[in-house]
Amino acid sequence: MKPASGMRAEAPPFSTLILKLTAFCNLNCSYCYMFNLADRTYDRVPRCCETETAKTAVELLAEHARRAGRSAINVVLHGGEPLLWPADRFAALFESIGKIRSSGLAVSVSLQTNGLVVPAALLTLLAEHDVTLGFSLDGPEAVNDQARVGDDGKGSYRRVLDSMRQTLDRGFPPSRIGVLSVVNPAMRPIEYFEWAIELPVRNLSLLWPIEFSWDSPPWDPGEEQLYRQRPRYGVWMAAAFREWWDRWPEQIHVRQFLYTVGRLIGQAHHSDSIGNDFVDMFVVNTDGGIEYPDYLRAHRDGGSRTPYSVHRDDLDDLRANDPTFRTLLRLRESIPAECRGCQNEDVCGGGFLAGRVTHGGFAPETRSVLCHDQMYYFNVVRSAIQPYLAAMEEVEAGGRQ
Ligand code: SF4
Repeated sequence: MKPASGMRAEAPPFSTLILKLTAFCNLNCSYCYMFNLADRTYDRVPRCCETETAKTAVELLAEHARRAGRSAINVVLHGGEPLLWPADRFAALFESIGKIRSSGLAVSVSLQTNGLVVPAALLTLLAEHDVTLGFSLDGPEAVNDQARVGDDGKGSYRRVLDSMRQTLDRGFPPSRIGVLSVVNPAMRPIEYFEWAIELPVRNLSLLWPIEFSWDSPPWDPGEEQLYRQRPRYGVWMAAAFREWWDRWPEQIHVRQFLYTVGRLIGQAHHSDSIGNDFVDMFVVNTDGGIEYPDYLRAHRDGGSRTPYSVHRDDLDDLRANDPTFRTLLRLRESIPAECRGCQNEDVCGGGFLAGRVTHGGFAPETRSVLCHDQMYYFNVVRSAIQPYLAAMEEVEAGGRQ
């Protein structure tokens, strides 16, 4: 790989590996970006990642982190459905992760599952290695089963909830389980929280929809200005925030809301839709191919693919020389011109990454197609916490006198 030209400052290192253990799934969710949107990479890679490939991917990140002087890395076990990966391969992978941990590097491991089947034997292994589990559930049964169905079209809700309860009954700590929900404006926010409060776990993540880009916006043709006044997903997210803020902040931990408030009061929280200072993750597919984050596969077949592989390439090289990774690692520097001066510039940073795509390609200089939604949502959160912000400013001003 040729060195980058110019005198740009060094990008920060990668911290997070999204490791695709499988390229198949036992559900067929309608909005799935792996199988049911534009990308068909799953058809061109092995169904299962080889153990050696998985171990090499983790070791590659560990080496990169050590050279960069970092003390911790994150590994997210992903798919397809990662729990369909053979159990003996998990054992070998965790043995390898254990060695990296013993060398002094902290390795946080999470696994994102559809939750349909969580094998008991595997659960013990996951618990022993402090893995955090994310179950996908979008809300009450009727809402969840609109999208989260099997090949037979039947809903998955009851089987997933049973499986989550069994997981807890087998002693897996509830604090290490979270629920991920894709926003569905067909459900009232109060309905969502009255459902969530009955769940046996407290940690929730609410996700913006990934399927919208400038090639397929959430408004009808010619109706952007109308949409801007009442953006469908932003209105929902804002109403959900108000509901949560007024009634549930202690009982239900919604990461999206906690991070938004945190960012607005000056904490360094940051994610794919909050802050957007940097995206320091990379994906490794089942063939060992190093890929850009999944947001970029939603809108174009092969949109996440790169020529790189864990078997040939080095993360230091990618960090220094690949233009897309360089941009992602320093995303704040590419903030769109139209976002500069926006009242939400700091908390939003150009908006949800999957929406910063046009003509199928990543366009970091373009604000997210969910700008109107996020603007609406952030403004509501800001006004809800305004009395606290004003009080804090007064206290701080008093302290300076
Ligand atoms: S709300 Fe819109 S204009 Fe403001 S920072 Fe976000 S994407 Fe940019």
